[in-house]
Parts: sequence; structure tokens; C-alpha cells
Amino acid sequence: MPRSLRPSAFVPPGFHVEKAVQDGGIAIITVRPTSKTSGCPSCAVIAERVHSRYMRRLADLPLAGRQVRLVVIARRFRCDVASCRRAIFTERFSANVLAPWARRTARLDCLVHHLGLALGGRPAASFARRLMLPVSNDTLLRAVRRRGCAPFPTPTVIGIDDWAWKRNQRYGTIICDLERRRPIRLLPDREPATAQAWLAAQPQIAIVARDRGGAYSLAATKALPEAIQVADRWHLMENTSHAFLDAVRKSMRQIRSAIGAATVNPNLLTAAERIQYEGYLRREDANAAILAHAKNGAPIKQIVRETGHSRGLVRRILRGQRSDVFRMRESSLEPYLPWLDAQWAGGLHNGSELWRRLKRQGFRGCLRVVSEWAGRRRRAEKADAGTLRRVPSARTIARLMTTGRDALSKSEAVTIAAVEDGVPLLVDARSIIAAFHEMIRKKDEGELDAWIE
Ligand SMILES: [Zn+2]
Repeated sequence: MPRSLRPSAFVPPGFHVEKAVQDGGIAIITVRPTSKTSGCPSCAVIAERVHSRYMRRLADLPLAGRQVRLVVIARRFRCDVASCRRAIFTERFSANVLAPWARRTARLDCLVHHLGLALGGRPAASFARRLMLPVSNDTLLRAVRRRGCAPFPTPTVIGIDDWAWKRNQRYGTIICDLERRRPIRLLPDREPATAQAWLAAQPQIAIVARDRGGAYSLAATKALPEAIQVADRWHLMENTSHAFLDAVRKSMRQIRSAIGAATVNPNLLTAAERIQYEGYLRREDANAAILAHAKNGAPIKQIVRETGHSRGLVRRILRGQRSDVFRMRESSLEPYLPWLDAQWAGGLHNGSELWRRLKRQGFRGCLRVVSEWAGRRRRAEKADAGTLRRVPSARTIARLMTTGRDALSKSEAVTIAAVEDGVPLLVDARSIIAAFHEMIRKKDEGELDAWIE
């Protein structure tokens, strides 16, 4: 059932609104606590005698697109307990409404904390401005740090690994509680001594899951000699994948000759590739037919009649002007092409700039003509570079070979089929690794001993 909305509904619980004014884009709301008493922070006895009043100014959630400043008329109370060392204390509120000394209400602080977690300092600060919660990036980071060090239950099964502050440059160590499935500690570096110091303070740890490198193993052995160390599943899988990549790398010479020997099978081209290829074949057929007629001594007129091609086309083919795969239109650029080629070779690849310079030379065409030409040039160069490195990298081949056949494009499938034909040892290696992954996934202990041997 709808009820009328009182002004106090807009402020945190436990306050009633005394006054609300607007100053520019800021709503200033003056509130008074509804409670008559407050607990003494030293002896926890409820005090009733008011000593004096003072104002607390706090930021609160924005209201209808306005920043909100809350002015709380708070009180100082006298503690009448004779044994209490405090005579006067400031009014305390519930911590989930207003913490002592806070500059923000708890509900705003919660939002600030989550913004900082989600976006990090600077991005969160600029987003917060749009949300009408002006907080600095330092404040955001402080809010995250203040709540970040929640105490964790003592772990008995942990995982330890490195993580990147900045990939390839600076690494730290992450420790996870594997029973509760949550990270519990970040260490600033990945030195064995740092990990050892932390582990030594947690003697109850019984199992340490780690990578297969030496550093964490050493740290765990020194700090927790009784604990069982296990290689974690992710690293086992990763190491075997890496072994396969090594095998592919060692076979690159055979792979190159296998792929080089493969011929194009039109049935395996993608739809777009097939259309291009068929068009090329059709043009080649037409060229061959026209040239055959000409070889028999037929005049152009007769060739046009018999093949149905236009007179201009027949003439161009007889002059040898149509052997290219992609036909070009005559264009207004024609007279400037040598100049454009020279500029391109000199490193000027910007269509707009080329167009401006052409205009100074008297070119009357529009920008689009020139930028399309530049785009074609760029694509042509890319295609050349692509045909030069037709053999994919070892990493790509390893990935394609272990990807399901259904997930490959037609041309990838052709490449992989050629590799499998030419280098059968890699197929064996792949099935061995697939069997290993399968065993790990199924947690099939029975096969493990045979594997280790
Ligand atoms: Zn007291």
C-alpha cells in the first residue's frame, strides 16, 4: 500500500530532517538525531545528560542529481559513571549509519568502496564525479585498503603461485585458502624468503599446492617440513601443453615442408574465398577461350560473336591487358598513379594528405577516390606480407592441433591436415597429451603410477 514519503526517508535512519536548502548544485540537509541518549565509548553506560551541541558535516548519497551535504546537529554527553575516565564524550551512532570521525555516511562509504574495488583509483574517481559523489582517487584507494585486510580463518590447505603486478616485469605471490576457495594473502614479491616467512607463521598448514618450479617448493620445505606438497592441476595441464609446444617447435622444419607441399583444394575454401577463386577461374577460362580463337586466326568481330564478350574486353585480352586476378576500373587517378606510387614508396600513406597534395597539382577528384586507393594499397601490402609467412607460428600450430576440428576454419583445417600427414610423430604426441589431460580431469589415480614410470 503506498504511503506518503517523509523527508526523513531521504536521510540515514535515526535522524529527522530539520531543514533543507540548496546552494548551487549542492543540497544541504540539516538533521537531528532522534535518539535521546548515547552510549559512552569507554564504559558503554547509556548517558542522558547533554553537555553541548556541535555540527558534523558529512557527504551523503546524491539526491535527484545533486550532491548532498548532511549537517548533523550532534551532541556531547556527560558520562556520570564515577569510575569512568571520560567525563564528556561525543555522541556515537550505529557504525552502519555513521562511524565516529567519518566524513561520509556509511551508505556512501560502502558505495565508494565498491567503486574503488571495481574500477581502481583514478577511473573510479572520474566515474564518481559523474555520479555526483566527488571523491578523490586517494580517498577511493583508502576506502579499499581500510576494508581490505579482513581477518581470515587459519588455513590448512593452501595454494601458492605468482601473480603479475605488471606482466613480464614485476611479480608478487598469491596465497589461496583452497578449502574456502578464496585468496587470503598477497605478498609483494616472489622471493622464496618472503614466502617462507609467511608460511613459517602458519604451522597448521598441512598441504601446499604449488607450481613445479623450485622456489615455492624450497620455501615450503624450509618453513613447513611436515606439510605435503602437491603439484597443482593447472600447472600439470599447463606443463604438458608446453611440452607439446616444444615438440611442435622442434618439428618446424618438417612442418614447413609439409605445408609448402599442400595444394589448394577448392572444396575446403571458405565461402568468400571460393567466390574469389571461382571468379578468377571464370576469367581464366574466358581468357583462354578468346586466346584460342585468336590463335586460330579469327578476327575480333568473330570472337565477339562466338564468345558473347564485349568488343573492348576481347581487345584488352588480346593485348594482354587482363591477366590480373582483380579487375581495376579506369579512374580519374590514372594520370597521377606514378606520382602516387612514388609518394607511397617514400612513406606517405595518409589518404587525406595525399589528396591535398594532389589537389595542388590540379587533381579534381574527391577525397574518397584517393583514400580508397590508399586502402587498396594497404590491403595489398598486408596480403603480400601474409603470403610470405604462410606457415603459422609454432604456438599457432600447437593451438590449432589441440583445438577441436569443428572449431577450425576451412583454411586452418587444410593447414592442420597437411601437418598431420607430413609429421605423424606430432599426432602421436598429441594423443599422449590428450590422454594425460583426460586422466587428470577424471582424477583417475589408477593410471597415475604407470604414467610416472
Ligand atoms: Zn563512561
